[in-house]
Amino acid sequence: MNNKIVILGSGESGVGSAILAKQKGFDVFVSDKGNIANKYKQQLLDENILFEENQHTTQKILEAKEIIKSPGISEQTEIVKTIIENKIPVISEIEFAARYTSAKKICITGSNGKTTTTLLTYHILKKAGYNVGLGGNVGKSFAYQVAKENFDYYVLELSSFQLDGMFNFTADVAILLNITPDHLDRYDYKFENYVKSKFRITQNQSKTNQFIYCIDDEVIANFMSNNKIEATTIPFSIKQPIDGDGAFLLNNQITLNYKPNQNQPLIMTIEQLALQGKHNVYNSMAASLASTIVNVRNEVIRESLQDFQNIEHRLEFVASINGVEFINDSKATNVNSTWYALESMNKPAVWIAGGQDKGNNYDDLIDLVKAKVKAIICLGKDNKKIIKAFKNHVDLIIETDNTIDAVTASYKIAKKGDVVLLSPACASFDLFKNYEDRGLQFKAAVRAI
Ligand code: ADP
Repeated sequence: MNNKIVILGSGESGVGSAILAKQKGFDVFVSDKGNIANKYKQQLLDENILFEENQHTTQKILEAKEIIKSPGISEQTEIVKTIIENKIPVISEIEFAARYTSAKKICITGSNGKTTTTLLTYHILKKAGYNVGLGGNVGKSFAYQVAKENFDYYVLELSSFQLDGMFNFTADVAILLNITPDHLDRYDYKFENYVKSKFRITQNQSKTNQFIYCIDDEVIANFMSNNKIEATTIPFSIKQPIDGDGAFLLNNQITLNYKPNQNQPLIMTIEQLALQGKHNVYNSMAASLASTIVNVRNEVIRESLQDFQNIEHRLEFVASINGVEFINDSKATNVNSTWYALESMNKPAVWIAGGQDKGNNYDDLIDLVKAKVKAIICLGKDNKKIIKAFKNHVDLIIETDNTIDAVTASYKIAKKGDVVLLSPACASFDLFKNYEDRGLQFKAAVRAI
C-alpha cells in the first residue's frame, strides 16, 4: 500500500506537517525548491525525515499518495501543475493536521485584520483559562502543535491560500472579517475566485457550527444573498443595530448578544477598547462573539478587550519628536488596510507609501488623501503609479528609496501637531525582506532623528 506523503515547501507549515506525518507512521519526503533555513533543516534531521533542497525531484514527488503544499507555492508552478495532471491530491497543512485532533477550532479569515483578531481571540481564551493553541499563519504551525501538544481549543488564522487546500476540514466557529481585492495574481485576476476562496471557511459547516461575519461588507452580504450558508450565521455591524444574536455599535457603544450562552448582553463603550480605530471595533466584535460562543463569560471578554497589547507594525505608535507623532503601519500591504489607517488619522498627515504594487487601484483613497494628507513620501523602487494617482490631490510628493531618506524628508515637512504615517498599501519585497523588516527599519530611522 502506498504510504508516502510528500511535503512541498519547508517553512513553518511544511516542517510541522512532516513531523506530524512521521509521527503518524507515514513515509515522509520533504522537497523545497529553495534553501531550507538552518532551524528547519535541524528539525528534519532530528526527526530523521528525508528531504531535498534547491530542487524538486519530480519522480520522487509523484510517488506520493498525497501532497501537502505550503500556502506560499502557487498552483501555477511547474511542479504543482505536474502533480495535478497526475491526479495526486494536494492539500494544505491545516487540512492534514485537522485529521488528527478533536479540539474545537475557531478559524479566522478576511483580507485584513486576521492576525489582530486571531491574537485577540487567543488572548481572551487564555485569560478565561482555556487549554488553547494559536496557529495557522501565526506562531508555531498547527500541525506541529497537533503532533506535540494536547490542546482542547485552537484559534487559527487562515489565509485564502490555506483555504484553497482545505476540503473536509470543518471550522467549529468561523469568522470572516471582510473581503477586498488582494492577491489577485493568484486568482487569475478574478475577484470572484478570491471571494469563493474566502467562503471556503464555511464549507462542511452545519447548523451546530457558527459563521460570524461582517454584515457591513457588501461583498460578503452579496455572496450570502446568492449562496446558501449551512452554519448558524451571526452578523456584526458598526452601521446598523442587529436584532437577535450578533454584535453592533450604536452611539459609541458596542452591544454583543448571544442568547444561548449569555444571561445579559455584553455592553462596552469603544473608549474602553485597547485597540482603537473603526477597523478594530470590527475585530473586537468578531473576537468577542467567537469567545462567547465557546462560553467565555462577559466579564472575562470585557477585561481582555481592555488589556490587550497592540501588535507590532499595525498602527503602532513609535515616538513623538518635537510634537510630530510617528506611526508604523508597515503591515498595511493593501489599499483597504491603508484606507482604515488614513481614516483613523485625526491630525494632518505626512503619508509614507509605496512598495511593490499588487495591481492596486488607489481611487478609494483619494477623498481621504484630499482631507487628511499634506504630503506623500514615496518609499518604493517604482513610484509612478502613486504619483499619477495623487499628483492632483496633494501639494507635495517626494520620492525616496530607503527608510532613512523617507523619515528625514517627512520630518522636514511635518510641523508640530502633525503625524507621520508609514502605511504603504503595497508589499515590501522591492526594497525590504518583508513587512517586518520595513517596519523595523522605519522605527530605527525615527529613533535616530
Ligand atoms: P492580516 O493578518 O489580515 O494581514 P493584520 O491584523 O495583520 O491583518 O492587519 C493588517 C493591516 O490591516 C494593518 O495595517 C491594520 O491596521 C489593518 N487592519 C486591521 N484590521 C482591519 C480590518 N478589520 N479592516 C481593515 N483593515 C484592518
